[in-house]
Amino acid sequence: MDAVCETGINLQPIGIVRSPTKDTSDVPIPGKPAEIVVDPRYSQALCRIETNSHLWILSWFHLSNRESLVSVPARVNPYLPQYGVFSLRSPNRPNPIGLSLVRLQAVDGNVLKVTNLDAIDGTPVLDIKPYYEQDIVFSPATPYIRPYELSMRRDIFLKQALTHHQEECDDLYMAVRMALIADEYLGQITLPQVFLQVSGSTCLADTLQGLSRARLANPARFRFTESGNLAQSIWETPGLSLRVTAKQSVNRESFKVISDEELFEIVATDQCNLGP
Ligand SMILES: [Zn+2]
Repeated sequence: MDAVCETGINLQPIGIVRSPTKDTSDVPIPGKPAEIVVDPRYSQALCRIETNSHLWILSWFHLSNRESLVSVPARVNPYLPQYGVFSLRSPNRPNPIGLSLVRLQAVDGNVLKVTNLDAIDGTPVLDIKPYYEQDIVFSPATPYIRPYELSMRRDIFLKQALTHHQEECDDLYMAVRMALIADEYLGQITLPQVFLQVSGSTCLADTLQGLSRARLANPARFRFTESGNLAQSIWETPGLSLRVTAKQSVNRESFKVISDEELFEIVATDQCNLGP
């Protein structure tokens, strides 16, 4: 073995996860709310932690298979090709370190209440670090590992929307439903060639901008017209124009049950077949 691998690293957990979830298969891709109980020996290290809204949590996936070097992310989509584990967030990897970006909801002594933690009851926690503004990459290039199930796509879009907009308002739910339609017709909505035009509330526009990563410039992919009585998004790629117009409002209760047909008027135009 190469000398670089013989460092004799010895890590001790700084805390443990407390959660009603006991089985890894019950943790959805966007993670779940949970508590992190920090060992009282490290209480001082929590000083001013409440000044952060978001934290990186490094944990130890203690149930993992450490022999895996390649994997098919079958929980996301069983029809995907194989990836190397360093190209995935798979819990199975040589050093099964978990990485979660969580929202810090409350601090109660040495207990942190967080959202979106990828962990089960009893998962050891290795470290806690603040999420800084300079961590933001607004429109990174990443492979699109598209979930096969609509419900998983919806959960991931909803997590992204909440992370960006940070308010659980009705138009956030409207934006997620519109983005899911666009994802269905266009595929990946974050690509540079997808242009987005939004008419509606500032909340709708802000959430759709967060989901599509469409910037106002460089490249110019986003345009917004404020409107009190219209909620509409028009998505354009070189081959397709898609207009999604709300026929009624949506809220947290109706978000998962109302059909696309009830909620929207959808007009898709294949621009390759347009006559002169
Ligand atoms: Zn809002």
